[in-house]
Amino acid sequence: MEGKEIGELLIKLIEFKTTSLRIEELRKAVDFVEEYLRDIPVQKIRYERNGKPSIVYSLQPTRKPKILFVAHLDVVDADPEDFVPKWSGGVVRGRGALDDKGPAALLIILLKELYLKGKNYPISFMLTTDEEVGSKDGVEYLLSEEKWECEFAVIPDGGKNFSVILESKGVLHLILKGEGKSVHGSRPWEGENAIEKLMRLYQLIKEDFPVEPCGDPDHWHNTINLGRISGGDSVNRVPDKAEIHLDLRFVSPWTVDRMKHMIRKKMEKFEGVEMEIVSSGEVVSTPKENSFVRNYRKVAERILGREIEFSKEHGATDGRFFAEREIPVLITYPRGGGAHSREEWVDVDSLAKLGKIFTNFLQEVFEG
Ligand SMILES: [Zn+2]
Repeated sequence: MEGKEIGELLIKLIEFKTTSLRIEELRKAVDFVEEYLRDIPVQKIRYERNGKPSIVYSLQPTRKPKILFVAHLDVVDADPEDFVPKWSGGVVRGRGALDDKGPAALLIILLKELYLKGKNYPISFMLTTDEEVGSKDGVEYLLSEEKWECEFAVIPDGGKNFSVILESKGVLHLILKGEGKSVHGSRPWEGENAIEKLMRLYQLIKEDFPVEPCGDPDHWHNTINLGRISGGDSVNRVPDKAEIHLDLRFVSPWTVDRMKHMIRKKMEKFEGVEMEIVSSGEVVSTPKENSFVRNYRKVAERILGREIEFSKEHGATDGRFFAEREIPVLITYPRGGGAHSREEWVDVDSLAKLGKIFTNFLQEVFEG
């Protein structure tokens, strides 16, 4: 696989301003991929849900490939100049260069090359356009409603410089809504302050989490963030309504249900508080002994000429949708950095190297 070809494709992909609200740009980017692969007559299924198009290519007609590669074409919002790619010194810069258009470009070319070499492996390539906004209309929809399945998922969308992520934290986003009784601010004893009630509940919930900074450099433990709070309308009124938005992250053996249960237990001490779940995802934990992982590691270490580092991911990844179905997941990245920042970059040769690892991994798995 040639770095030059990946770089040229990547540059075209960066130019599409594929942020979540620009539905036309999302469609145009997927149209462009279809056009790029027009001479590759493999199974192609295009979807669109809530203005978020996705496309899945398969070397064999199936919805149950053995291995599924997943990448996304959407990006977080950026200034106009970040959508002008720059390619120099073997590095491409621009919004999405690493996250995740570089890996997407590599997968598109990998698909083409495998087809042209006559390799009809039982594998599929899924490209979505809503990863940065929670994947509800992309990976989650395709797995739950369109019934895509696989035995192993490879997601080149995390980690650092070929490190392999087999574990990522679970996530629970929720809103706690408190009700109180509104009275004049000069007579607070007659009312019930909804903001204060939620503050007390929040403090009680926080007791179950380590106090940060906790001193553990890995921070491989549950965390809580109070990301948003609203309530009240006037300094001289006791507020009767308030909300807090919590971002909870957790590690095994915690699950979404266990976390919800813990919060509900704390809520029992307060009247007039309700919980609304915004989104959730289970912990990803793929064993190193998994046979796909062992094959991947062997091939990657041979090609890189060094040991692979296994790292953990604090943020949620698309891996959670596979973990929920007990499908093992491997997440990795080429050499690059600055995802979501103005300095985003990717090393083009390292994309080609990742492509070589994927190619050899597939050969190892399917041709032994
Ligand atoms: Zn910590």
